[in-house]
Amino acid sequence: MREYHQPLEFVEQPVPEPRHPTDVVVRIGGAGVCATDLHAMEGLMEPAGVTLPRVLGHENAGWVHEAGNGVTTVAKGDAVLVFPPHSCGLCVPCRRGIDMLCVHHQFTGLTVDGGFADYVLVPERSLLSLPAGVEPVAVAPYADAGLTAYHAVRRLQHLLRPGTTAVVVGVGGVGHIALQLIRELGASATIAVDTDSRRRALAGELGAGDVLDGAGSADAVRELTGGRGADLVFDFVGTDSSHADCLAMLARGGTYSVVGFGGTVSAPSAAMVGGEHTVMGNLVGTWLDLWEVMQLHAAGRLVLKTESHPLDSVNDVLAKLRDGEVTGRAVLVPA
Ligand SMILES: [Zn+2]
Ligand SMILES: [Zn+2]
Repeated sequence: MREYHQPLEFVEQPVPEPRHPTDVVVRIGGAGVCATDLHAMEGLMEPAGVTLPRVLGHENAGWVHEAGNGVTTVAKGDAVLVFPPHSCGLCVPCRRGIDMLCVHHQFTGLTVDGGFADYVLVPERSLLSLPAGVEPVAVAPYADAGLTAYHAVRRLQHLLRPGTTAVVVGVGGVGHIALQLIRELGASATIAVDTDSRRRALAGELGAGDVLDGAGSADAVRELTGGRGADLVFDFVGTDSSHADCLAMLARGGTYSVVGFGGTVSAPSAAMVGGEHTVMGNLVGTWLDLWEVMQLHAAGRLVLKTESHPLDSVNDVLAKLRDGEVTGRAVLVPA
């Protein structure tokens, strides 16, 4: 049954139980709310195999509640973060270490039930143990927002050279982490672009070199770079207009990294060839990306801006996100 554009509904379900020896039931401590949840509710995720109804919630952290008898790496009570893509470990993409491209791909909270619930059932391979003293609710957004930001920035780390300029378009849940990762992994000057003054203020607090509002951002970026444009542009918005702006601000030889989605990227091939532009899409990240971004967090090098809300306010939180009223990431906490 496909019922898009509907508010989420609460449904009583039994606590899940391991179905395979390596399954783990996680009691949710926090579940981040992502624009992808809105996209799923709008039907935009259908080409990716996401149909409703479904328990959404793909940024999950909590505690092991029950582990199947084949589970060896975690035990009841352990604090864990849930890597959302399922990976078999046996296929060629998994063996290459690009586990989000596993041929048996499933995604917790999009293609199988997720964490807008008290419990979620996941394979052991999806888990990452939290360092001692780290509360699940404080780090849940790393499971997707942090992971996605890290993957996108890490892929271009070799291009974040001194003397280059990197632009972050959209300083939301993912973008505010990416801004910090550009600093941690590279040496580019940074420019942050956001239409909202609160998010621009956040970008300034997080150390962006320059901060622009959305209007005329391509011209403004050219002005700030002596007419050259940006060597790297990370787009966390993904609308027709952000795609057009990002392409327009790209320097010769520049790379446009698309993370937010929903619009259509459209560019004359003569401009792409003449400018030797690269356009790349980013799909979440690998388990190792998640482990690495957690190492940076544990070392105190990243600020994760979150606000928590009770799980039963999920529809209000989704509306807030849709209206651009969330600064950082909203996290749902079961009662
Ligand atoms: Zn997401
Ligand atoms: Zn696989």
